[in-house]
Order: sequence, then structure tokens, then C-alpha cells
Amino acid sequence: MVDADLTFVIVGGGLAGAKAAETLRSEGFNGRVILICDERDHPYERPPLSKGYLLGKEPRSKVFVHEPAWWAGADVELHLGQVAVAVERADKAVRLGDGTRIRYDKLLLATGAEPRRLDIPGTDLAGVHHLRRLAHAERLRGVLASLGRDNGHLVIAGAGWIGLEVAAAAREYGAEVTVVEPEPTPLHAVLGPEVGQIFTDLHAEHGVRFHFGARLTEIAGQDGMVLAARTDDGEEHPAHDVLAAIGAAPRTALAESAGLDLAAAAEGGGIAVDASLRTSDPDIYAAGDVAAAQHPLFGSRLRVEHWDNALKGGPVAARAMLGRDAGEERVPYFFSDQYDVGLEYSGWAPPGSYDEVVLRGDAPKREFIAFWVRDGRVLAGMNVNVWDVTQDIQHLIRSGAQVDTMALADPSVPLDGLAGSLSG
Ligand code: FAD
Repeated sequence: MVDADLTFVIVGGGLAGAKAAETLRSEGFNGRVILICDERDHPYERPPLSKGYLLGKEPRSKVFVHEPAWWAGADVELHLGQVAVAVERADKAVRLGDGTRIRYDKLLLATGAEPRRLDIPGTDLAGVHHLRRLAHAERLRGVLASLGRDNGHLVIAGAGWIGLEVAAAAREYGAEVTVVEPEPTPLHAVLGPEVGQIFTDLHAEHGVRFHFGARLTEIAGQDGMVLAARTDDGEEHPAHDVLAAIGAAPRTALAESAGLDLAAAAEGGGIAVDASLRTSDPDIYAAGDVAAAQHPLFGSRLRVEHWDNALKGGPVAARAMLGRDAGEERVPYFFSDQYDVGLEYSGWAPPGSYDEVVLRGDAPKREFIAFWVRDGRVLAGMNVNVWDVTQDIQHLIRSGAQVDTMALADPSVPLDGLAGSLSG
């Protein structure tokens, strides 16, 4: 069969799906490419939704992966505002909500993730928000602006990346902000307590109040309006609006009902895929937030919910769909911006996996690199307001070599020579 007779279908029009479609064309595929997405907007990127776009500093037009005309030019058939409700593997077809069936030769599931919901009384009040979609960001932008004008209170459940970025944006608008977080520091599951404390200090200096070691138990309101947020230790915080930023769950319903293998909860859940992003069905692939890929560096499956993983994973899946060698050793990477702090994190080092955090540079001035190290080997590194070091950090991680941690902490020692500083 020649390419022109083939139909490749992509479910999900986020960054992973969009980049997969783009790669199919740039690799010369000239069959049909069909992209189905339940959102009505053309594929867009989510990072600005909690940063520049939320702050009103970046126009709406800048969030899109491509201008609308690009899709027609690339002959990608978009089915926007349409939900894929089933994958009928025996017939190699995707069924849409309106009953349409679309046959595929290869299928990519890039269905992303959805915000976890607070399971407490009061979440149906009008002032309770989530942040995943462009429409959410548009609404939240208006909310933050009016909270800022009226000295209003925002309570944020969760001190993860989205919770902290929105806290920073809300403070820039002038809103009062309280963040409620069960762990003792922000970003605890990613950075551990040592570096988490740096973020406590950063936000506290900007006027954010933290309530650690507690969970929301109730959002109290009247006539549909939020009045307060209560926590399990009996405290009550005044609130006009509440943002639930308690993480995201992979959208695996299609894969699950189609009988595809899912990853264990310990691997982050998601659709289980190999290093080429192939699922347990050889004609179906998964990429982006929904995929838990076998990771050559860590020797286990890892589900990564970050922009870079969608940006690079979509193309990896597209090339694998074309039968081209696609496996690559990507070090997990993400970035964040909060106030005047910009950072990049490479690697993976949850608490318990490292025995030491090595700081290089000036942490109080927030110009430093943090390294998470086990047995002298760098597992992860985060550069904060220090730039052009990602390649070197990723090289240290990939090399698996033991390094001299005194030299690692010393900014006068170039990073690019450190991989061989101790024999490993
Ligand atoms: P998604 O972007 O979630 O796209 C999946 C799409 O599929 C969605 O449009 C969804 O509605 C659609 N879909 C799902 N199921 C179906 C179905 N059955 N039928 C049809 N369509 C369906 N990462 C960083 O590294 N740095 C950041 O600073 C950063 N900031 C972020 C800020 C916000 C507010 C958010 C929400 C995320 C941020 N991320 C960031 C994470 C990053 O945006 C995600 O990792 C990325 O969007 C994942 O892309 P994806 O294509 O896998 O999934």
C-alpha cells in the first residue's frame, strides 16, 4: 500500500497531537491526516495560560501552534469541537460523539490530561475555578483583574506549578492570595523540601500566604458566591474565588475501553507505551501527557506532564507511525516563570530518590543551579535565572558518571568538564 492510500488519525489537538500532524507532513507522508479534538479552538499551547496570557501581556493570537490557514495548507483535516467516544480496534475505526466513524490505518492518542476535581462541598459555586483550557484562562483573567481592583481574596488549593504560577499572577493583579497545601513545602513531590523552601520564601516575599499541612474540606458560600474556604485543621480563609490546582489526571477513557494496556499507578498511570510510543496495539500510539513511556535512562515507565514532552513526543510518535526508528533518550525537561524568576528543570528526582542537594551559585539572590544527586551522580538539575546550561546539565544526567560534588557546587568550575571529574 502506498502512503496516499493510508489514513492516520490523531485524537487530541494539544501540542502533542499538533506536532505529530506537522511531523507526518514534514516527513513526507502524503496520505490523509485527520485530527479530532473536543475543543473548538485550533491547537494551542498551554504554558501561557498561567503566565503571559493570564497576565494580559501576551495576545491570544500568540498561544496557537499554527495560524488557522496553516492547517488547510498542510492538508490536515481538523474535526474541532468533536469528541472521540470509542476506538473500535477490530474495525480500526474511531467513533465520534455524533455517530460518525473514521477508519484509520494508524492511530495516535494524544488526549492529554484533565484537572483533578476537589471532592468537597461547595465546588459547584460560581467562584470555583480550574485551569487547563483557553476558556478557563480567559475567565480567570477577568476574575484576577476584579479581585485586584476590589482587594479580593483568592484561595488556591495546591502549591504545584500551576498553583504557584497563578499565585504570582494574582499578586501581580493585586489580589490577596492564600495557598493551601498538604505538604510542608511547595512543589514537594518534584523538588523535595530543600529547594521547595526557596519557593516558599519567594512567594512569601511577594505577599502570598501559605497554609501548609492542610487540605480544603469545604468551600462555604451564599447565593452561589464563594465566601470562605475551610481546611481540615479547622481554619477558615476568606475567599471570593477558589482555584483548584491539585494536579491533572491522564485522559485514558478511550484507551481503557479499547482494552489497551495502562501503566501502573506507581508509574503515574496513563497509557503504557514503549520507547517509540507504541501501545499494546501495534497500530495505536500515544504521546504527551497521557502516555507513560518506557524510559531508557530511568529503566522504568515515566509519565511526564510537560510542554517539552508533548513538543518532542508528538514527532517521535509520528515517525514511529511511519515505521521510522523513533526511540530517543529524552531527559524530562520543563520550565516555569514566577515574578522575575525563570527556571528550567531537567531530569527526575522525587524525594527518596536522591541523597543530597548541591547548590551552585547564589540561592538567596535566586541565581543558582540546584542538583539532586545520588551516590555522586546527578539525577536532576534546575537552573534558576541562570541560562544556557541545560545541555550541560542534561549531559551530566545522561552520563551517569560520578562527579566531584565540591566542584559541582563551585560556579568557577565549568559544568561541561564535570562528567569525568571522578571515575564512575
Ligand atoms: P493537552 O494539551 O491536554 O491536549 C489534549 C487535547 O485532547 C485537549 O484539547 C483535549 O480536550 C483533547 N481530548 C481529550 N480527549 C479527547 C477525546 N476523547 N476526543 C477529542 N478530543 C479529546 N509545561 C511546562 O513544561 N512548562 C510550563 O510552564 C507549563 N505551563 C502550563 C500551564 C498550564 C495552565 C497547563 C494546563 C499546563 C502547563 N504545562 C506546562 C504542561 C503542558 O502544557 C502539557 O504538558 C501539554 O499541554 C500536554 O500536551 P498534550 O498534547 O499531551 O495534551
